[in-house]
Amino acid sequence: MKHRNPIEVMANTRHEFGEHGGVNMSVEASTTFTVMHPDTMPEIFCGEKGPEQGGCYLYGRHFNPTVYNLGKQLAALEGTEAAYCTASGMAAISATLLQLCDAGDHIVSSNAVYGGTYALLHDLLPPKTGIRTALVDITDLKAVEATITDRTRAIYTESVANPTLRIANIPALSRIARRHGIKLVVDNTFSPLLLNPHELGADIVVHSMTKFISGASDHIAGAICADGGFIQQLMDLHTGMLMILGPTMDPQVAFNISLRIPHLPLRMTEHGRRTQVIAERLQAMDMAVTYPGLPDYPDHRLFSELHCADYGYGGILTLDMGTEDRANALLDLLQNTYHFGYVAVSLGYFDTLMSCSGSSTSSEMTDEDKVAAHISPGLVRMSIGYTGTLEQRWQQLTEALSRVGIVPAKGIP
Ligand SMILES: *Cc1c(COP(=O)(O)O)cnc(C)c1O
Repeated sequence: MKHRNPIEVMANTRHEFGEHGGVNMSVEASTTFTVMHPDTMPEIFCGEKGPEQGGCYLYGRHFNPTVYNLGKQLAALEGTEAAYCTASGMAAISATLLQLCDAGDHIVSSNAVYGGTYALLHDLLPPKTGIRTALVDITDLKAVEATITDRTRAIYTESVANPTLRIANIPALSRIARRHGIKLVVDNTFSPLLLNPHELGADIVVHSMTKFISGASDHIAGAICADGGFIQQLMDLHTGMLMILGPTMDPQVAFNISLRIPHLPLRMTEHGRRTQVIAERLQAMDMAVTYPGLPDYPDHRLFSELHCADYGYGGILTLDMGTEDRANALLDLLQNTYHFGYVAVSLGYFDTLMSCSGSSTSSEMTDEDKVAAHISPGLVRMSIGYTGTLEQRWQQLTEALSRVGIVPAKGIP
């Protein structure tokens, strides 16, 4: 099946000329906007007369033209009716789940999610809100369905799990969600363009734009992509999680990110191309490498059916070094001797970023939950960059691997 490639619609959405005819949109720095006809204030306030109904913008926390424009680009990327940008990925996730759930409600979530999301579901929501979450293996569809209760409001999953790289079967999960009248929320941070969760049946798509979408590790940012009704609810003056909790994106950040959206397709293609080559060569050396583009990877067929083939299998691989000590020895050499990349959390940067997930971005998880999610202590997550040449990077990687005593079984390719 040929999947949607939104590149053209994204390009057209960007046609918002600057106020002097510039090719880039202008940054609207105002936090408040002039109401030309005072008698329209009540309609503007209750959301009946926005800028597209002949009214005007109201207040920057509600929405700002520059942030609104970036939202339109995100809606184009994800193929949703609307989208709104937030100050962080966590803001997008927490606002979405709080909007969907009331006190005492229930969420069924993948047990392999970003550490911050795990902490929200496992540690923060229960005492603060009484919203409880059952963590399940999202690839076990029977278990997912069996865990749904009459208080469940949402199924939550990452399209590609951080850091296990397991793939959520979004079409099947969406059928389960429909059957029970609940929402499917998908975090698509690892796979913008590669996977189109909304096309595959997700109701709400969230992003940490801090990662691939920004691509330069210089902004913390997030987005919620959904139908217009849900975005309106988030901005409700009384009960909207964006309006009342206030995790608003700064217009300057929105502008900067809007300049990276046009080359997101090129970047995702190159991240994917290089990661595929490195994964194949590591596998040929009998290393414990996990990458969705490898034919024997457990979800390879599913990913191949669901993804937009133009962008490959993504820019992240993991390498299991067995123990944390061996993992740390390799990371030390890769960064400090061979300059292959940086030891840092986060991902989607133009240079390679590497970290040991169990002790960093998944450290919020209990030991049992790490075992259940198959996050072993020696698991190194690599977000493969595209600086330097591929062969130069491969040379650096293999030299470091031989220095830590990994004698390649079949020789270095
Ligand atoms: C980083 C990350 C988040 C959190 O995003 P922030 O922008 O840091 O708040 C959420 N989900 C995934 C999959 C992530 O990698």
